[in-house]
Amino acid sequence: MNEGIDQRDPLIAGALAGELRRQQEQIELIAAENIVSRAVLDALGHMVTNKTLEGYPGARYHAGGRYVDVMEQAAIERACELFDCAYANVQPHSGSQANLAVFFALVRPGDRVLSLDLAAGGHLSHGLRSNLSGRWFEAHHYGVSRETGMIDYDEVEAKALEVQPRLLVAGGSSYPRALDFERLAATANKVGAHFVVDMAHFAGLVAGGAHPSPIPHADIVTATTTKTLRGPRGGVILAREESWARKLQSAVFPGVQGSLHPQVIAAKAVCLGEALQPEFGRYARQVKRNAAKLAAVLADGGVSIVTGGTDTHLVLLDLSATGVTGQAAERVLEHAGITSNKNPIPFDVRSPAKWSGLRLGVAAATTRGFREAEIERVGRLIASLIGSPDPGDLDEARRTVAELCHAFPVYGPGSLV
Ligand SMILES: *Cc1c(COP(=O)(O)O)cnc(C)c1O
Repeated sequence: MNEGIDQRDPLIAGALAGELRRQQEQIELIAAENIVSRAVLDALGHMVTNKTLEGYPGARYHAGGRYVDVMEQAAIERACELFDCAYANVQPHSGSQANLAVFFALVRPGDRVLSLDLAAGGHLSHGLRSNLSGRWFEAHHYGVSRETGMIDYDEVEAKALEVQPRLLVAGGSSYPRALDFERLAATANKVGAHFVVDMAHFAGLVAGGAHPSPIPHADIVTATTTKTLRGPRGGVILAREESWARKLQSAVFPGVQGSLHPQVIAAKAVCLGEALQPEFGRYARQVKRNAAKLAAVLADGGVSIVTGGTDTHLVLLDLSATGVTGQAAERVLEHAGITSNKNPIPFDVRSPAKWSGLRLGVAAATTRGFREAEIERVGRLIASLIGSPDPGDLDEARRTVAELCHAFPVYGPGSLV
């Protein structure tokens, strides 16, 4: 039991070492990713993982919870302070689990739900047919305008009046623009629907004061601590008003989950504590500047950007005019050491292999220390690689990536994390 992983399991130890090297030697532009602090890693790898607990602080189903109570209480209080809300549940094992719990609390099987269409940037846990949320509830979707790529709030309202949903959901995985929370809340109010915002992608920007907060407008807000919030993999549920507390407590446990993951809750507390520091506000503002720079450089390089720009950390490229698929672009960038993902664009075909979008995000690169100058270099590389690259372009790109990764190390001497 005292052997380290190197002795105990060389296969996994080798793969872990390879993964660390991969993170050090490539530029991470997957919009859902970030690079967590040492303190977050310390919590995630701690022996507290041995503890089994169900229930909530002060009301557990097992003995021995006094230290985990401290961690969970701190995570709850920090979340409430950070997002200015009355209620926080930090137990959801993931963002999808947080959403499932909210559905469990607010709607019954067969009820109508209205959310953003997946191809327009929505999330599978908001009513996709092949997800439980789409199988057990009657999901309808609003889209975006064909001309602008942006949500047309008059269309959302018309759809809501037609569908009469019990639940209106906003937020998604590849919508690069800020949402009009006030207008959406008014629409929900008009049709008597609950209003939920899933801020998984932009929670860190809200935390850092660089993006409007949905808390004053939504009944319930879900988020991940992953992504821009720069914490462990997991979800949170927030509510402006205490009145939702009882329903949400029992929806998470015993509604959709059993015991909590104490090492993740400790890590959530650490990441929320970090997000309360002034430094995190500077980080969030830099993320937005970097994303705006990336969009501008790519547009300048002839790449079409969905909605023409971004208000977040996320930039969605429309490659439909280039003849290159998102998948091909993802591969060529990976060869150069830049990691991204193929994505549908609004009104795209169904087959992932033929999607015309490539999704980029700058949260991880910004944590690494990239500012506008470095993002500009990366943007120029991407434009050259997905255009019609000369044979020399890939070598040139590899050299630039290696130089930038060396200048901005991760988890090593001289690194910010
Ligand atoms: C990432 C994401 C989630 C959560 O995903 P998990 O992988 O289940 O943690 C939920 N909603 C949206 C909009 C997301 O982007």
